[in-house]
Amino acid sequence: KWVCWAGDRSKAAAFSAKLCVCVSEGTAYSAYHYMVFACADSRVCPSVTLGLEPGEAFTIRNIANMVPSYCKNKYAGVGSAIEYAVCALKVEVIVVIGHSRCGGIKALLSLKDGADDSFHFVEDWVRIGFPAKKKVQTECASMPFDDQCTVLEKEAVNVSLQNLLTYPFVKEGVSNGTLKLVGGHYDFVSGKFETWEQ
Ligand SMILES: [Zn+2]
Repeated sequence: KWVCWAGDRSKAAAFSAKLCVCVSEGTAYSAYHYMVFACADSRVCPSVTLGLEPGEAFTIRNIANMVPSYCKNKYAGVGSAIEYAVCALKVEVIVVIGHSRCGGIKALLSLKDGADDSFHFVEDWVRIGFPAKKKVQTECASMPFDDQCTVLEKEAVNVSLQNLLTYPFVKEGVSNGTLKLVGGHYDFVSGKFETWEQ
Protein backbone atom coordinates (compact mmCIF):
# COMPACT_ATOMS: atom_id res chain seq x y z
CA LYS A 1 0.00 0.00 0.00
CA TRP A 2 1.39 3.36 -1.01
CA VAL A 3 1.04 6.28 1.33
CA CYS A 4 1.03 9.78 -0.07
CA TRP A 5 2.87 12.06 2.34
CA ALA A 6 2.72 15.20 0.22
CA GLY A 7 -1.03 15.06 -0.35
CA ASP A 8 -0.48 14.68 -4.10
CA ARG A 9 -1.91 11.30 -5.01
CA SER A 10 -1.13 11.47 -8.70
CA LYS A 11 2.59 12.00 -7.98
CA ALA A 12 2.62 9.13 -5.48
CA ALA A 13 0.90 6.86 -7.99
CA ALA A 14 3.35 7.81 -10.75
CA PHE A 15 6.25 7.16 -8.36
CA SER A 16 4.96 3.72 -7.33
CA ALA A 17 4.28 2.79 -10.97
CA LYS A 18 7.89 3.63 -11.92
CA LEU A 19 9.17 1.46 -9.07
CA CYS A 20 6.96 -1.46 -10.16
CA VAL A 21 8.41 -1.25 -13.68
CA CYS A 22 11.95 -1.22 -12.28
CA VAL A 23 11.34 -4.26 -10.08
CA SER A 24 9.55 -6.27 -12.78
CA GLU A 25 12.37 -5.59 -15.23
CA GLY A 26 14.95 -6.57 -12.65
CA THR A 27 16.75 -3.26 -12.89
CA ALA A 28 15.91 -1.88 -9.48
CA TYR A 29 19.26 -2.80 -7.97
CA SER A 30 21.52 -2.30 -10.96
CA ALA A 31 20.67 1.24 -11.97
CA TYR A 32 22.40 3.06 -9.11
CA HIS A 33 25.21 5.38 -10.06
CA TYR A 34 25.28 7.75 -7.12
CA MET A 35 25.17 7.70 -3.39
CA VAL A 36 23.88 11.02 -2.07
CA PHE A 37 24.22 12.49 1.42
CA ALA A 38 21.79 15.35 1.98
CA CYS A 39 20.39 17.22 4.96
CA ALA A 40 17.10 16.07 6.47
CA ASP A 41 15.82 19.65 5.97
CA SER A 42 12.56 19.44 3.99
CA ARG A 43 13.63 22.33 1.74
CA VAL A 44 16.49 20.40 0.16
CA CYS A 45 15.04 17.06 -0.94
CA PRO A 46 17.69 15.80 -3.39
CA SER A 47 15.13 14.25 -5.72
CA VAL A 48 13.71 17.74 -6.22
CA THR A 49 16.95 19.75 -6.19
CA LEU A 50 18.82 17.31 -8.44
CA GLY A 51 15.86 15.98 -10.39
CA LEU A 52 16.81 12.42 -9.48
CA GLU A 53 14.55 9.66 -10.74
CA PRO A 54 13.50 6.66 -8.60
CA GLY A 55 16.21 4.01 -8.80
CA GLU A 56 18.91 6.54 -9.62
CA ALA A 57 20.50 7.41 -6.29
CA PHE A 58 21.06 5.62 -3.01
CA THR A 59 20.33 8.36 -0.49
CA ILE A 60 21.07 9.09 3.15
CA ARG A 61 19.60 12.15 4.81
CA ASN A 62 20.53 13.31 8.29
CA ILE A 63 21.03 16.50 10.31
CA ALA A 64 23.48 18.74 8.39
CA ASN A 65 24.37 15.99 5.86
CA MET A 66 27.23 14.67 7.99
CA VAL A 67 29.37 11.62 7.26
CA PRO A 68 30.96 10.41 10.50
CA SER A 69 34.31 8.61 10.63
CA TYR A 70 34.29 4.81 10.55
CA CYS A 71 32.93 3.51 13.88
CA LYS A 72 31.10 0.19 14.13
CA ASN A 73 29.62 1.00 17.54
CA LYS A 74 28.36 4.57 17.13
CA TYR A 75 27.60 4.85 13.44
CA ALA A 76 26.56 1.40 12.18
CA GLY A 77 23.53 2.87 10.39
CA VAL A 78 25.60 5.19 8.23
CA GLY A 79 28.45 2.70 7.86
CA SER A 80 26.19 -0.10 6.67
CA ALA A 81 24.59 2.18 4.06
CA ILE A 82 27.99 3.27 2.72
CA GLU A 83 29.22 -0.32 2.68
CA TYR A 84 26.13 -1.54 0.84
CA ALA A 85 26.26 1.30 -1.69
CA VAL A 86 29.95 0.78 -2.46
CA CYS A 87 30.36 -2.99 -2.12
CA ALA A 88 26.96 -4.31 -3.28
CA LEU A 89 25.42 -1.60 -5.48
CA LYS A 90 28.84 -0.54 -6.83
CA VAL A 91 28.00 3.16 -6.94
CA GLU A 92 30.51 5.20 -8.92
CA VAL A 93 30.15 8.53 -7.11
CA ILE A 94 29.43 9.58 -3.54
CA VAL A 95 28.07 13.13 -3.37
CA VAL A 96 27.80 15.02 -0.07
CA ILE A 97 25.52 18.03 -0.47
CA GLY A 98 25.43 20.91 2.00
CA HIS A 99 22.87 23.69 1.74
CA SER A 100 22.17 27.32 2.53
CA ARG A 101 20.67 28.35 5.88
CA CYS A 102 21.32 24.90 7.39
CA GLY A 103 20.06 24.79 10.98
CA GLY A 104 22.46 21.98 11.89
CA ILE A 105 25.46 23.98 10.70
CA LYS A 106 24.21 27.05 12.54
CA ALA A 107 23.90 24.91 15.70
CA LEU A 108 27.47 23.67 15.25
CA LEU A 109 28.84 27.20 14.91
CA SER A 110 26.75 28.38 17.89
CA LEU A 111 28.02 25.69 20.30
CA LYS A 112 30.06 27.11 23.14
CA ASP A 113 33.12 25.12 24.18
CA GLY A 114 32.46 23.29 27.45
CA ALA A 115 28.75 24.20 27.66
CA ASP A 116 26.19 21.49 28.50
CA ASP A 117 24.22 20.03 25.60
CA SER A 118 20.49 20.73 25.57
CA PHE A 119 19.58 17.81 23.26
CA HIS A 120 20.33 14.10 23.74
CA PHE A 121 21.77 13.61 20.26
CA VAL A 122 21.86 16.76 18.14
CA GLU A 123 24.94 18.56 19.45
CA ASP A 124 26.98 15.37 19.57
CA TRP A 125 26.01 14.61 15.98
CA VAL A 126 26.84 18.03 14.50
CA ARG A 127 30.21 17.97 16.31
CA ILE A 128 31.27 15.58 13.53
CA GLY A 129 31.97 18.85 11.70
CA PHE A 130 34.07 20.28 14.54
CA PRO A 131 37.36 20.42 12.53
CA ALA A 132 35.57 22.56 9.92
CA LYS A 133 34.23 24.86 12.64
CA LYS A 134 37.73 25.43 14.03
CA LYS A 135 39.03 26.19 10.53
CA VAL A 136 36.26 28.71 9.83
CA GLN A 137 36.64 30.42 13.21
CA THR A 138 40.37 30.77 12.58
CA GLU A 139 40.32 31.83 8.94
CA CYS A 140 37.06 33.80 8.84
CA ALA A 141 37.07 35.41 12.29
CA SER A 142 36.28 38.87 10.90
CA MET A 143 33.23 37.72 8.95
CA PRO A 144 29.66 38.19 10.24
CA PHE A 145 28.12 35.06 11.81
CA ASP A 146 25.81 34.32 8.86
CA ASP A 147 28.71 34.48 6.38
CA GLN A 148 30.73 32.13 8.61
CA CYS A 149 27.77 29.73 8.49
CA THR A 150 27.86 29.78 4.68
CA VAL A 151 31.57 28.95 4.64
CA LEU A 152 31.04 26.27 7.28
CA GLU A 153 28.27 24.65 5.19
CA LYS A 154 30.96 23.94 2.57
CA GLU A 155 33.89 23.19 4.92
CA ALA A 156 31.77 20.64 6.83
CA VAL A 157 31.19 18.87 3.50
CA ASN A 158 34.97 18.67 3.08
CA VAL A 159 35.28 17.08 6.53
CA SER A 160 32.66 14.52 5.51
CA LEU A 161 34.58 13.76 2.30
CA GLN A 162 37.72 13.20 4.41
CA ASN A 163 35.74 11.00 6.82
CA LEU A 164 34.53 8.87 3.90
CA LEU A 165 38.15 7.85 3.33
CA THR A 166 38.24 6.22 6.81
CA TYR A 167 35.97 3.45 5.40
CA PRO A 168 38.39 0.89 3.92
CA PHE A 169 36.11 0.02 0.98
CA VAL A 170 35.76 3.72 0.08
CA LYS A 171 39.51 4.30 0.29
CA GLU A 172 40.12 1.27 -1.89
CA GLY A 173 37.58 2.41 -4.50
CA VAL A 174 39.08 5.90 -4.65
CA SER A 175 42.60 4.46 -4.89
CA ASN A 176 41.80 2.16 -7.79
CA GLY A 177 39.67 4.73 -9.62
CA THR A 178 36.27 3.01 -9.41
CA LEU A 179 34.83 5.54 -6.95
CA LYS A 180 34.81 9.34 -6.94
CA LEU A 181 34.01 11.63 -4.00
CA VAL A 182 32.22 14.88 -4.79
CA GLY A 183 31.25 17.81 -2.57
CA GLY A 184 28.21 19.93 -3.30
CA HIS A 185 26.35 22.95 -1.99
CA TYR A 186 22.79 23.93 -2.83
CA ASP A 187 21.55 27.47 -2.21
CA PHE A 188 17.77 27.13 -2.14
CA VAL A 189 17.30 30.90 -2.17
CA SER A 190 19.22 31.59 -5.38
CA GLY A 191 18.82 28.08 -6.82
CA LYS A 192 22.61 27.86 -7.29
CA PHE A 193 24.06 24.35 -7.09
CA GLU A 194 27.84 23.94 -7.09
CA THR A 195 29.99 20.84 -6.92
CA TRP A 196 33.68 20.16 -6.42
CA GLU A 197 35.95 17.15 -6.31
CA GLN A 198 38.04 16.48 -3.28
ZN1 LIG B 1 20.48 21.39 6.91
